[in-house]
Amino acid sequence: MSARVIAPRLSALGLALLCGCSDPSPRSLPAPSPAPLAAPLPAAPPVQAPPVRRDGTIYAESELMGTRFSINLWLPPSQTAEAAGAAIELAFAEIDRIEGLASEWRPDSEISQLSAAAGGEPRPLSPDLYTLLQRSKVVAEATDGAFDPTFHAVGQLWSFRPGAIPPSAEAIADKLPLVDWRGIELTAEGRRGRLRRAGMKLGLGAIAKGYAVDRAAQLLSDRGFTDHIVEGGGDTFVSGTKGGAAWMVGIQRPDGPGSVGALPLRDRALVTSGGYQRYFEHAGRRYSHIIDPRSGWPLDEAASALSVSVLAPDATDADAYCTAVAVMGPARGMEFIESRPELEAVIITQDRQLLISSGLTERFIRPPAP
Ligand code: AMP
Ligand code: MG
Repeated sequence: MSARVIAPRLSALGLALLCGCSDPSPRSLPAPSPAPLAAPLPAAPPVQAPPVRRDGTIYAESELMGTRFSINLWLPPSQTAEAAGAAIELAFAEIDRIEGLASEWRPDSEISQLSAAAGGEPRPLSPDLYTLLQRSKVVAEATDGAFDPTFHAVGQLWSFRPGAIPPSAEAIADKLPLVDWRGIELTAEGRRGRLRRAGMKLGLGAIAKGYAVDRAAQLLSDRGFTDHIVEGGGDTFVSGTKGGAAWMVGIQRPDGPGSVGALPLRDRALVTSGGYQRYFEHAGRRYSHIIDPRSGWPLDEAASALSVSVLAPDATDADAYCTAVAVMGPARGMEFIESRPELEAVIITQDRQLLISSGLTERFIRPPAP
């Protein structure tokens, strides 16, 4: 999507939402512009400066990708609030652009078109989709298919809205042979891709949000705002510091408000995923939105974690590995995390045990006892 196309959407995405501040006290306000002596031409609408909070941060949020995204940015002395507002708008627009190409629920998205052409000739792919699929394949291979974006051949049979009913076992068995990440064929030359078999379908719900967070964070940094937190529906990237002090990120309690603990983070992503986020109940059983690609069925609740949080160098990886670890289950999932030096995790089990990977035990801060 070009800047020309996104421009009319900016006010809906960005500045109109910039005042979702928990601390409304502004540190500084823009000086009123001097009145022009003569203004023969209609002036461009003034750039609205978002309020700066007492701690030097600017906060904004926007509904995107079916969830709420937020940006919390520390304003460096060399920058203006107006410039920060403009960068935040661009970051939100970038997330919107990623959704436009990576949503399997939009028939006109690039990903839907690639799925519709499954079994056909390789097609040229945008740099973003190529990267997303390339990185998806790496995670799928590393996790032995626990994360598999081709799960969607079966995933499309499931709806997780309240009141939904499960598909038939026959329908699942029929589509299951189409689930195999090895059938995503990519060619670097000409940046092309295809799905090997007709009927295969891609769903990027477990990685696109992380990628969008990374893109937004990159965009803020490129514009000189290197100290920020970008968060969207449980996917967080933390960049730099808050004026020299470490940003603190909490891990949400799966069964109520508040957090089970927090981590000081810098230049790292933390992604949390849990069955409690989206599910439906039918005939006394709860079906949650993460699907085991080997069976085509949602994870067995009793054997699954209540929530999984994965720490990784970026949100794309953290998102995808988080879903994979959820599929693996707490014991095997933690074993996998320990085998990968760049990954850490906090897993909450069904019996409310907190499993913390060895690299985090010293850094994890528990809330004070009530
Ligand atoms: P997350 O919240 O990041 O765990 O992602 C969950 C979303 O990822 C689901 O809503 C599906 O769109 C998709 N998904 C579910 N199961 C899998 C899987 N095994 N591999 C890849 N994507 C999945
Ligand atoms: Mg994920």
